Amino acid sequence: MEKLDLIIVGGGPIGIACGLEAKKKGLTYVIIEKGPIVNSLYNYPANMQFFSSSERLEIDEIPFISKEAKPKRNEALEYYRRIVSSNKLNIHLFEKVAQVNKQGDAFRVETSKHRYAADNIIIATGFYDIPNTLNIKGENLPKVSHYYKDPHFYAGQKLAVVGASNSAIDAALECWRKGSEVSLIIRGPEVGQRVKYWVRPDIINRIEEGSITAYFNATVAEIRESEILIDTPEGRICLENDFVLALTGYRPNFEFLKKLGIALSQDDKRLPQYDPETMETNVGGLYLAGVICGGMETHKWFIENSRVHAKMIMASITKKKSAKSNS
Ligand SMILES: Cc1cc2nc3c(=O)[nH]c(=O)nc-3n(C[C@H](O)[C@H](O)[C@H](O)COP(=O)(O)OP(=O)(O)OC[C@H]3O[C@@H](n4cnc5c(N)ncnc54)[C@H](O)[C@@H]3O)c2cc1C
Repeated sequence: MEKLDLIIVGGGPIGIACGLEAKKKGLTYVIIEKGPIVNSLYNYPANMQFFSSSERLEIDEIPFISKEAKPKRNEALEYYRRIVSSNKLNIHLFEKVAQVNKQGDAFRVETSKHRYAADNIIIATGFYDIPNTLNIKGENLPKVSHYYKDPHFYAGQKLAVVGASNSAIDAALECWRKGSEVSLIIRGPEVGQRVKYWVRPDIINRIEEGSITAYFNATVAEIRESEILIDTPEGRICLENDFVLALTGYRPNFEFLKKLGIALSQDDKRLPQYDPETMETNVGGLYLAGVICGGMETHKWFIENSRVHAKMIMASITKKKSAKSNS
């Protein structure tokens, strides 16, 4: 089995940035992605508009031209897809990494299709695959989803949106505009302060005028076939309901990180341990890149500020490699 310099787990924007940088440095590498190119972005809401302007989503200063200053999901899919194709990056798609074991100085990687060996591993698996669940009765009913795609699906339906962040507010507004009867259930006293500044006034006005019904300091107690129970400061209420969008955030695959031997902080943040200069974890040769670095603080890292990880990691790997060949 040929031993590579590097295996990159995850073909999101940051995994692709790492692949591009590895290629530029003449390293032997492969990107392994369990879905299509930039799978998380592919699963974003159909009409999603990034809060970043396109130049802030650029990789390696490759120009990202978009119709508006802030690009739409489809434009981002095209941009990252073109980077992969025009640079002929070595990426294996629809292949899931199941195991990574360190043996001596090298790593053995087992996927749903193949086995690999490499001196270094980058984990760039993001946080979008595992939703934060409500852990209530009825959450597994088919009418409940933790991912929002297209407002048309909910037209003419009684829709409950659970959450106060950008994803929940975008979904509530879009679906209301397509004719859903929207109820917004928010655990805290107000719409999230991190909601995009150009969206927040819109939702607040819709609530004040009564177009969207909001329940603050409220939680969903139970979900049934045609109704939901909500606990509010005024007591428990029962609402007629067709669909529930529980957009309560996502989390990294902590079990996977622990299996790799990566130490996590003991507090609620569950921050993975890594050197902020090189992104190398407590396991030699094992690096983290992208939004996964934030643990439960999923608002801390995004493409804008984590695309630099690629250069930091390649600098560390090439430095080690030349030290080894000189010794
Ligand atoms: C709705 C939304 C809007 C956002 N808007 C912005 C914005 O405007 N600006 C900004 O900078 N950031 C934004 N972000 C944050 C940022 O875009 C994402 O989190 C981005 O996807 C991070 O890139 P990543 O490569 O670290 O992770 P991801 O894009 O999540 O990529 C991880 C990849 O790893 C793959 N993977 C996971 N496990 C395995 C495995 N075992 N084997 C193989 N492959 C695996 C996944 O399929 C996925 O493709 C937004 C996030 C969300 C959810």
